[in-house]
Amino acid sequence: MSHGSGAGPLIQVENITRVFHVGGEEVRALRGVSFNINRGEWVAIIGQSGSGKSTMMNVLGCLDTPSSGRYMLNGKDVSRMSDDELATIRNVEIGFIFQTFQLLPRETALANVELPLVYRGMSARERRAKAKAALDKVQLTHRMHHRPNELSGGQRQRVAIARALVAEPSMLLADEPTGNLDSATGEEIVRLFEQLHQAGHTLVLVTHEPKLAARCPRAIRLSDGEIVADGAGREVALGTAAAVLAAGGA
Ligand code: ADP
Ligand code: MG
Repeated sequence: MSHGSGAGPLIQVENITRVFHVGGEEVRALRGVSFNINRGEWVAIIGQSGSGKSTMMNVLGCLDTPSSGRYMLNGKDVSRMSDDELATIRNVEIGFIFQTFQLLPRETALANVELPLVYRGMSARERRAKAKAALDKVQLTHRMHHRPNELSGGQRQRVAIARALVAEPSMLLADEPTGNLDSATGEEIVRLFEQLHQAGHTLVLVTHEPKLAARCPRAIRLSDGEIVADGAGREVALGTAAAVLAAGGA
């Protein structure tokens, strides 16, 4: 179930590092990062280019594993999992939202939203019902038979959000979700995130835009692979939040 009810935080990141080896050099993209995220939180991860946001997102999204430290997701230690195990966890736990929407252009909105369920051996009827319910959550059932090129940018992103929701993951993980949208449309998407947050979903979004982070109840700022602030989104975005208070966050 998407809202989850297990004990403890949904996400526990404990002193993780990620080191890349480039030529003979070591690039330390994450240098000892720790925080917790509880079920139902809406958190932005913010920082300038090169600060480690994408590396952090890849670890949180089970697309990559840390070089050291521990990442617990929904009670499972995912930091030492094999690629196959990670792929399974990823499908069950995470709904991804991308800057560029990543919809299949030849398929309708409904078919795009059904896709994550196709791999789960669910009957066509059940898939359709779930996909329609997800499209209803993003207020787009009236466009379900349209293809992406017949939809506006904001509508495309809403289809992508419905696709991320459809399998009822424990969290939504969004990468610059408003980066390809004009500001009015971006605002529409932020309002949708507000609704999803109110409905109890856990949202983590990665962005370099202070304006977006300011809308999130909590933001974590990375700089040079380290957390330099963790607090109310507005304060972190404006740079007035205190630097790291304690490992483990809010
Ligand atoms: P951001 O998303 O905040 O721009 P990244 O996480 O992409 O930051 O990068 C953080 C640092 O790690 C940068 O110095 C970047 O060059 C380096 N880095 C990221 N991914 C790789 C990789 N696959 N190989 C080598 N270096 C990488
Ligand atoms: Mg990046």
